[in-house]
Amino acid sequence: MKRRKNGTYSTKTGGSSKFRRRVFYIDHAFPLLGHIAFGIIDRGTNLLQVRPSSLCPLSCIFCSVDAGPLSRTRAAEYMVNIEHLAEWFRQIAEYKGEKVQAHIDAAGDPLTHPKIVGLVEKLRKIKATSVISMETHGLLLSTSLADKLDDAGLDRLNLSIDALDPSLAKRLAGANYYNIMRVVEVAKYIASSLKMDLLIAPVWVPGLNDEEIPRIIEFALEIGAGKHWPPLGIQKYEAHKYGRKPEGVKPMRWSEFYRKLEIWEQEYGVKLILKPEDFGIRKAKRVPCPFKKGETLRVRVVGPGWLKNEWLAVARNRVVSVVGVEGPPPVGRGIRVEIISVKDGIYLGAPL
Ligand code: SF4
Repeated sequence: MKRRKNGTYSTKTGGSSKFRRRVFYIDHAFPLLGHIAFGIIDRGTNLLQVRPSSLCPLSCIFCSVDAGPLSRTRAAEYMVNIEHLAEWFRQIAEYKGEKVQAHIDAAGDPLTHPKIVGLVEKLRKIKATSVISMETHGLLLSTSLADKLDDAGLDRLNLSIDALDPSLAKRLAGANYYNIMRVVEVAKYIASSLKMDLLIAPVWVPGLNDEEIPRIIEFALEIGAGKHWPPLGIQKYEAHKYGRKPEGVKPMRWSEFYRKLEIWEQEYGVKLILKPEDFGIRKAKRVPCPFKKGETLRVRVVGPGWLKNEWLAVARNRVVSVVGVEGPPPVGRGIRVEIISVKDGIYLGAPL
């Protein structure tokens, strides 16, 4: 990734067709609270979501955030400086005044960050850090990378395996280069040979992988996933506004989903209906929100928006996504916006 001389951002089309989208580099000049696609998300618990990269090498047909090479909604991707990210984590954790879990996840796949091992190392060195966990679909995972993450101090890997059948796995991942058998081998290695725990987290897409879910439960139990935490985290497919929706698939009702999980719990003798307490997650002091919904203020445009018709802006040491705009971002210019959403510490503004 090349940085521009003005030091603010770089653009990259990449050598691989998997990453042909503009990548915007988030360095020390940017606040790391306020955006859904990068930085830190505080939902008022003792767990902080840590988002180092929004890139993804897959294009899952059910993806709730329309990630990957086949994305139709994204205008740019973000990649965060890991020193900066770890420092913001430290400061927010200290503000909370208790031990805090670092959950490395993404609106993409965190393993796309070239310094992901370094990020885990840095988070591990922070006194306030308790558990470090990470989510991935595993395309970029290898036994040697798993070794490095283990040595760096990763406590748990949440690995999404949506089908064990190789051709169905490719179809669900929207990628014919996705080799589930390779991911399976790494999963076995992690469960049998590393300190870190493994949680298998399939997305159940009704009508597409119904028969795969019991096979995945058996697989997780067989390889010894769940040494300290539950071995499985089955996720329900939901249709999201900007997400991909597989043709002919209707999301299941929650009652139906839990009924089926209860049946499998009894059949396999394993906990499948999970609560935050199963992972030691509880309410904690929340970082204050500096904006009020409906408030108008001046923000400074600093870069491209994540989605089309958005710009990236900053104000009051927070990031604000300015939505409903057209054209290239007028970087450096101040514009007036109305704050239209502050939900979960993600800030959206509309130009006035
Ligand atoms: S579901 Fe995850 S791995 Fe699949 S495209 Fe979306 S972000 Fe990438």
